[in-house]
Amino acid sequence: MTDIKEMVVIVKWSGKEFPLTDLTDQDTVEVLRHEIFRKTQVRPERQKLLNLKYKGKPAADNIKLCLLEMKPNFKVMMVGSTEADIEDACSLPEDIGEVIDDFDDAEEREESVENSAVYLAKVQRRVRDYKIVELSSAREGKKLLVLDIDYTLFDHRSPAEQGTELMRPYLHEFLASAYQDYDIVIWSATSMRWIEEKMRLLGVASNENYKILFYLDSNAMISVHVPERGVVDVKPLGVIWGLYKQYSSKNTIMFDDIRRNFMMNPKSGLKIRPFRQAHLNRQSDKELLKLSTYLRQIALYCKDFNQLNHRKWEHYDPKKNS
Ligand SMILES: [Mg+2]
Repeated sequence: MTDIKEMVVIVKWSGKEFPLTDLTDQDTVEVLRHEIFRKTQVRPERQKLLNLKYKGKPAADNIKLCLLEMKPNFKVMMVGSTEADIEDACSLPEDIGEVIDDFDDAEEREESVENSAVYLAKVQRRVRDYKIVELSSAREGKKLLVLDIDYTLFDHRSPAEQGTELMRPYLHEFLASAYQDYDIVIWSATSMRWIEEKMRLLGVASNENYKILFYLDSNAMISVHVPERGVVDVKPLGVIWGLYKQYSSKNTIMFDDIRRNFMMNPKSGLKIRPFRQAHLNRQSDKELLKLSTYLRQIALYCKDFNQLNHRKWEHYDPKKNS
């Protein structure tokens, strides 16, 4: 197996230095650009990386960093920042939940990504460095439910007088029901500040009928290279499994409206129908109600969640699948 070395690269841009601490020498220039984007909000196509050379020429996106002969703490000079770049950098982070395109037919590739040593090394780094703040205690014998927020529990884009109008119907009933069998984690591709605000707004943080174990934000995600899509951020359950040994693919299920978020653990993910246009769908959306039943049944009847096919959750029959 290839030896994977962690590396720190420092980006100098606009008079400031941004250390990138999430790279390995097996990552490509494209991944480096993605990490620069995460830190500076300057889009990859706008980044001019002056001293990043391969064989005397500007290093192409597909070149691995180990080929670039960078010294430890190498400083990459980024220039060409326009007014628009600076404006970008000052605005709120782009909401990843807004990304509509997704890949639905990617099982084979998902399998290979799941086992890639480079990504597993990144997961290990999250296990080591990401600080989880527990809001309640894990309970013995419980399974684990991991929930996305945007378009899964909440429509963050529709106009409304009050935040609660954007809440997916049956949210509190759903969480209270799930809490009987599952410890509950919320994982959103936004910042911790936004997650805490949304959960307060929806009354999730203070509900008497259930507790949330902890929140995870975008910093717990890892970037993964997908040939036809470029670099994307995904939610690897290994970050949780590495820290909480009682949970594994046997007893964990994750809901998200974007399938690629499951890429590191495709079998544990259930792609929920996105909750959009809350003002139109508030009366008719019963997704969480139906999913409550599914969660209950698999908790009662399924010893190993690896045997389930969450794509067919609506047709789950305990007698056939136990
Ligand atoms: Mg979402």
